[in-house]
Amino acid sequence: MFDNLSDRLDSVFKKLKGHGTLTENNIEDGLKQVRLALLEADVNYKVAKNVISDIKARALGQEVMQSLTPGQQVIKIVNEEFTKMMGSTHQELNFSATGATAIMLVGLQGSGKTTTAGKLAHFLRKNGRKPYLVPVDVYRPAAIDQLTKLGKQMDVPVFASTTDMKPLKICQEAKLAARDLGCDTLLIDTAGRLHLDDALMAELEAIKTGINPAETLLVADAMTGQDAVNIAGEFDKRLDISGFVLTKMDGDARGGAALSIKAVTGKPLKFIGVGEKTTALEPFHPDRMASRILGMGDTLSFIEKAVEAVDRKEAQDLEKKFRKNQFTLDDFKNQMQQVRNMGSIKDLLGMLPGVNKKMLKDLNINDKEFTKIEAIINSMTPEERAKHAIIKASRKKRIALGSGTSVQDVNKLLKSYTQSMKMMKKFNKGGMKNLRGMLPF
Ligand code: GDP
Repeated sequence: MFDNLSDRLDSVFKKLKGHGTLTENNIEDGLKQVRLALLEADVNYKVAKNVISDIKARALGQEVMQSLTPGQQVIKIVNEEFTKMMGSTHQELNFSATGATAIMLVGLQGSGKTTTAGKLAHFLRKNGRKPYLVPVDVYRPAAIDQLTKLGKQMDVPVFASTTDMKPLKICQEAKLAARDLGCDTLLIDTAGRLHLDDALMAELEAIKTGINPAETLLVADAMTGQDAVNIAGEFDKRLDISGFVLTKMDGDARGGAALSIKAVTGKPLKFIGVGEKTTALEPFHPDRMASRILGMGDTLSFIEKAVEAVDRKEAQDLEKKFRKNQFTLDDFKNQMQQVRNMGSIKDLLGMLPGVNKKMLKDLNINDKEFTKIEAIINSMTPEERAKHAIIKASRKKRIALGSGTSVQDVNKLLKSYTQSMKMMKKFNKGGMKNLRGMLPF
């Protein structure tokens, strides 16, 4: 996401940084390029115009800071204004003070509502809440089935809606059922249509009035660009939306909707969907996103994800083992599993400063590779896992055979294992910048 915009801005900033002092002309020219880049990223033209004029006023007014070069100062201002444009700070979900909280998801059909309901259930559960999924699309039995299946897979209870029930009635009964089950948050997956229509809006209004949800979130497809922003506006007019979820941000290289939605509607973007899996949901942080767009990386989100995925105690144990040189192949496998839990590695690395697209292309990491490594280690004896040095030619052959791989694969794995140890030592000294080297491939 935002790849094109990041690249464009990168070249604008390189030019700016090249000047020892910045004149009004340099700045004007640079900002013209920034504006074009924003428009190409499909940012609403009014929003682009406003943010550029704010940046210009500040850049020319020069809040001079001795510690920064003029080019850096402009980048800092752009970063701050982008952050403001996207809503300044992360807006958390609201919960009802008493009784179960209802979170109503609305949006057009295919926007990703049902998937988002599953993702939110996962997110809420991780945060100590007890979600309850409520399918309300009584016009499409397939939609009820989809959510019911999702709930089953995730082991989250789902209200047994049927197509002959009225949507508001479903919500009311679900509230009682949630109480009986000890669930505290209802995720209401409402009906979507292919286009906005009055009947749908009236039904959603009735549900909203009837259950008084703590959140009415509009789920919109980022790939539809400015259409998503317009739809957001329409829903907001009728339903007084409390926030947005933009899905399919993984597929939208432009990202214009995410950049404009707050400025156009005045309502916050709370989450972005970045994939089809239930873990592919990120709380939206304007400041971090601005840094990500400007190529400063998003170290904070990276660390947050890492902390979420990695068992702290296990990580500490691993670190101790590293320090004492007791890091076995079993630990290597463990470490790899933890990294795998973090989701798509490429996405993660993309959040780090200094990691550019080319580097990511070079890193051809995929799940298959992980599975292979796991199979190889599983085919080793405990002794081999503890003392890799004893794995000589005949053992390698046996392991390759046992894991359905080749001796070459076994060699490759052993090499990355020893490299991983070396890198970890460096990481202990060098900090974040060596993290890429620490990953086991
Ligand atoms: P609904 O009709 O609004 O309930 O939409 P669904 O939840 O059924 O989603 C429609 C399609 O979009 C499905 O194929 C989902 O897997 C896909 N989808 C939803 N969210 C995302 C996302 O964040 N990224 C990607 N790549 N696909 C998504």
